[in-house]
Amino acid sequence: MIGKVEEIVELKDIQFETTICNNCGSAANQLLVTGQDRLHQIPGQFTNVRCSNCSLVYMNPRPVEEKNHLFYPMVYGPHRPQATKKPSRKFWSWLNDRLWRHTINRLYAAPAPEAELLEIGCGAGDFLLEAKRLGWQVTGTEVSKTAVHHARKLGLSIHEGTLDTFPRDKKYDAIRLHFVLEHVHDPTKMLQEIRNLLKPGGFAHVAVPNENSTAFRWWRSYWYDLDMPRHLYLFSPQTFEALCVKSGLRLEKTVGEVKLDVFWNSFLFWLQGVGLSAPIAAFLRKLLFGITLPVAIPCGWALGKKNKTSRLHFVVSKD
Ligand SMILES: [Zn+2]
Repeated sequence: MIGKVEEIVELKDIQFETTICNNCGSAANQLLVTGQDRLHQIPGQFTNVRCSNCSLVYMNPRPVEEKNHLFYPMVYGPHRPQATKKPSRKFWSWLNDRLWRHTINRLYAAPAPEAELLEIGCGAGDFLLEAKRLGWQVTGTEVSKTAVHHARKLGLSIHEGTLDTFPRDKKYDAIRLHFVLEHVHDPTKMLQEIRNLLKPGGFAHVAVPNENSTAFRWWRSYWYDLDMPRHLYLFSPQTFEALCVKSGLRLEKTVGEVKLDVFWNSFLFWLQGVGLSAPIAAFLRKLLFGITLPVAIPCGWALGKKNKTSRLHFVVSKD
């Protein structure tokens, strides 16, 4: 999961730009948190600010779009197929994951005949394959060549590239955007594109990191979902809804993702940050994760009810 980039990225390779709030256009902001790339060790310090006007959190200055690919190494998790990742061997953790998947995948149960689903940023295609089995006609878009290669091997129809080059000859009953919005330079534009691609009566499912989470309050610059410099935005239920309104979408439902990995991966980053060697930190993470599971699971579900989990899932429709 954690690995250095194969290609050596040096600070001089990264060009930065200053930016304004993507929601309200204000240039006024306050420093929120400064951090570093703890996942893949891209060099440098990065800064997230909070818009003084509408509270949206964004990276500023941020790396320019043309250099974005430098930050996604071959080992980047979402670009690899599920089959190459180790499932948890702990019963309670396995059960929690199954319960969560059951909760969120109810959105996709029992599609109408011939219903069309588009996943933007489909990674290696694991979800699309599942949706296809449920009866959806599925299409994906993905920018990572490696991920496209894996997804096409599953027999899926994948457009390689961004939405800018995606054909507009079809509308969709459902669109899934799973931890993608925080990576793009212009989230408003992406939400507007989603609106244009939705059929009347269709829905989009958008999952993002939650800056209003208990874990971010606790771990701050060690929070796993800070993921600098890949996460250019962090959202809260309020700032996400503001972007929806601006984009002609209506927020229908908010669900807190109940998975415990983000908390414990943040703990791992903290242990490494205070100087523990990687093997000892990994051992302690595993040990405490296992011991606390029976208590952590109900706590996670309670936080989910209050939308205070590290990750939020939104269901939106056309206005
Ligand atoms: Zn703003």
